[in-house]
Amino acid sequence: MRIAMIGTGYVGLVSGACFADFGHRVTCVDKDAAKIERLNAGEMPIWEPGLEALVKSNVERGRLTFTTDVAASVTDAEAVFIAVGTPARRGDGHADLTYVFEAIRELAQFINPGTVVVTKSTVPVGTGDRIEAILKEEGVEGVSVASNPEFLREGAAIADFKHPDRIIVGAEDDRAQEVLREIYRPLFLNRAPILITGRRTAELTKYAANAFLAVKISFINEIADLCEAVDADVQDVARGIGLDNRIGPKFLHAGPGYGGSCFPKDTVALLQTADNAGVEQRIVATTVSVNDDRKGRMVERVERALGGDVAGKRVGILGLAFKPNTDDMREAPSIPIVKGLVERGAKVAAFDPVARHQAEPVLPGIEFADDAYAAADGADALVIVTEWDEFRALDLERIAASLKGKILVDLRNVYDRGEAEAAGLTYYGVGRGRPPGA
Ligand code: NAD
Repeated sequence: MRIAMIGTGYVGLVSGACFADFGHRVTCVDKDAAKIERLNAGEMPIWEPGLEALVKSNVERGRLTFTTDVAASVTDAEAVFIAVGTPARRGDGHADLTYVFEAIRELAQFINPGTVVVTKSTVPVGTGDRIEAILKEEGVEGVSVASNPEFLREGAAIADFKHPDRIIVGAEDDRAQEVLREIYRPLFLNRAPILITGRRTAELTKYAANAFLAVKISFINEIADLCEAVDADVQDVARGIGLDNRIGPKFLHAGPGYGGSCFPKDTVALLQTADNAGVEQRIVATTVSVNDDRKGRMVERVERALGGDVAGKRVGILGLAFKPNTDDMREAPSIPIVKGLVERGAKVAAFDPVARHQAEPVLPGIEFADDAYAAADGADALVIVTEWDEFRALDLERIAASLKGKILVDLRNVYDRGEAEAAGLTYYGVGRGRPPGA
């Protein structure tokens, strides 16, 4: 199949490279000329495990190319995927579809009948209908519009794309179904389930999935608060409920709340869709407000661990990216936590294994350390914000020796209180019994 991928970000680049790896001929398009130039020079614009090798091998085989030229990529494509950003619109949180519609108007000039336009971007219910209307306005005929929401996770994106739990295809006609089945055929051989639904249903399924995962996170975070008040351990509670197949163990890790490029914007966009439809979504609304509050509560946690005041104190931060194995800083919990500490007068020294270049512009005025021990050096407390693997096996005695105040605030429950205390640290986890001094 010949595929054009419009938008070469986290989703477009990974999907494009994986489709090429399945044997399709893929052209990845982006309007960001600098990004395309870097890709053509063999440089990755994002940090994602395994991506560079996958891109390189498919470029060498001649199956993957990068361009800013929409015309050339779209004219002979059988499928044109839209993978541009759909950020939250300022003010009301609606999904901003400007990039999607711009891309559609642009490709409308070059697309041929028989082509299938597929939204991979996360778009609100009814966007496919609006795309159809725009294509009609632009005089395009005989083009199908389908929805194929993407469920990959940054940090494990290639494995997720190649071994998905399911593929959702929202299609209103046979041609769209046929083309998408053919594109994903290598995955059916691996028995990945494909669910063919109506287009509006597929669009909503993506939001429902992200909202449900966000609910799980906010749920366990509230249970963690209760654990601290009644001296119980949330890790054991999560394991105890997660072993129940009806619940499942994933997304039950108490922590600083969800962030990233998807959950925050998608939960709010779902609420906007519901509002427009005149239907209440009280569970998702509460989830969003629980999560919003949580960031501020993490700052207070560090403050309490430091005796009630962080002014003039030095705080080491481990991990800035919104989760491990990515350099993505979008809506990272580290941002409000670091800013909250700085506003209260703390001096922050932060270390992240790969996200520094993304973090520097959003967190001005803090120090960046070269490793975890340097972040701890002379600090009154060390705070683990993102659970990178390299923070799981720190030499805690060395950390304790580097710290001025012997305080470890572990917002990801990476360590056990016993091992931290054995190294001479006072340990504050999340939901791990009554916190010291409480
Ligand atoms: P991104 O910001 O990393 O990439 C979007 C890219 O689209 C940018 O490079 C931008 O320059 C390009 N672009 C914008 N308008 C364009 C146009 N008219 N023509 C060509 N290129 C254009 O975004 P992302 O994280 O890859 O997300 C893309 C979509 O996928 C969003 O809707 C998002 O919600 C969804 N999604 C993201 C993830 C994820 O983990 N990042 C997972 C599943 C779904």
